[in-house]
Amino acid sequence: MPGFELFGEQEKKQVQDVLDSGILMRYGFDGMRKGHWKAKELEKALADRMQTKHAQLVSSGTAALSVALASAGIGAGDEVIMPTFTFVASFESILAIGGIPILVDIDDTLTLSPEAVEKAITEKTKVVMPVHMCGSMADLGALKKLCDEYDLLLLEDACQAIGGSYDGKPLGSYGDIGCFSFDFVKTITCGEGGALITNNESFYLNADHYSDHGHDHIGTDRGAESHPFLGYNYRISELNAAVGCAQIERLDEFLAIQKKFYSILKNTLQNIKGITFRRVPEGGVENYSFLNFFLPTEEKAKEVHGALGKAGIDACFYWFDNNWHYYRKWEHLTHLTTLGKLSEEIKTQLPDYTKADFSKSDAWMGRAISCLVKIGWSEKEVEARAKTMAKVIEECLH
Ligand SMILES: *Cc1c(COP(=O)(O)O)cnc(C)c1O
Repeated sequence: MPGFELFGEQEKKQVQDVLDSGILMRYGFDGMRKGHWKAKELEKALADRMQTKHAQLVSSGTAALSVALASAGIGAGDEVIMPTFTFVASFESILAIGGIPILVDIDDTLTLSPEAVEKAITEKTKVVMPVHMCGSMADLGALKKLCDEYDLLLLEDACQAIGGSYDGKPLGSYGDIGCFSFDFVKTITCGEGGALITNNESFYLNADHYSDHGHDHIGTDRGAESHPFLGYNYRISELNAAVGCAQIERLDEFLAIQKKFYSILKNTLQNIKGITFRRVPEGGVENYSFLNFFLPTEEKAKEVHGALGKAGIDACFYWFDNNWHYYRKWEHLTHLTTLGKLSEEIKTQLPDYTKADFSKSDAWMGRAISCLVKIGWSEKEVEARAKTMAKVIEECLH
């Protein structure tokens, strides 16, 4: 997955443009920037590639989620439905704008279960936030139907699945707003960075203003701009955006490598009795950044995960026991350990997650293993890896 594996001359050339002008900020300094507007260029390239009208770059994927929520008018006490399997950024970004993260079970897609989502909808629900974990997507058609029926916003977290698609549309562009991360370990990177995409003009303008202190960006004198509403600073730097300008040009090259390596691994493993693969919803195309599969039982999954590690197969994850990606280890959320006081809305409305029953999620996560597909491997290495994996798994299962 990580774009940093192929960091090279294109990235250096883009950054050098910025260094040559010395203008490290994305706004203003028109006369001194020698025509370089890296953040604006990357926004244009991203909107084009994702077939949306608008893209707004920000400082991180987490920031993109918060800005997306704020731009759609989500705030104190509004409930946002999110999955039990995701990155901690999901609930962080919701809490940051005063919203209430409502955790909901996943299914064999390893993303939000539409059935569980429908059960969790209340009068306070405003947003459904599927997270397309590990390269594949939620059942967006079913979720969109629910969102239309209950008048909810569909916000896609596509941070781990950029380049995948659903129903012929790039992931992130199917819902009302989509978010990407360009942190250092994502499919394409800015070093640090993130973005949201949307076809909604008013969400976009809100995001443009909100991510830069509420500046309306009218005219060429920053000091004279007005601020129609309160904002914050989630700006990306021009240096980070420059790296992204090079990486987005290479996205399809990276995806092709991922697909090739993923296919070698999958073709080798699929003949093993006892292994099944994560369900990809009909109409979905993965971005192939991970190969995700299930073992017959939790015990076997633990055994296989341990054995793969011992055999030198790195970058395979057993999320069930992972600190950052599965609700079971989110003690700081469950026990609401914060530095300062939380708002009344969060204190009174947040479900007591120490008593939550997510056994349906556990039944899938307990059996799941995800193996990262690296783009820096050689084909020979992948073939050897596939063979070793198959041997290790066969030994554990039979
Ligand atoms: C990486 C990631 C984020 C957050 O992105 P940052 O740029 O690291 O803040 C959010 N959601 C998911 C699913 C991610 O993988």
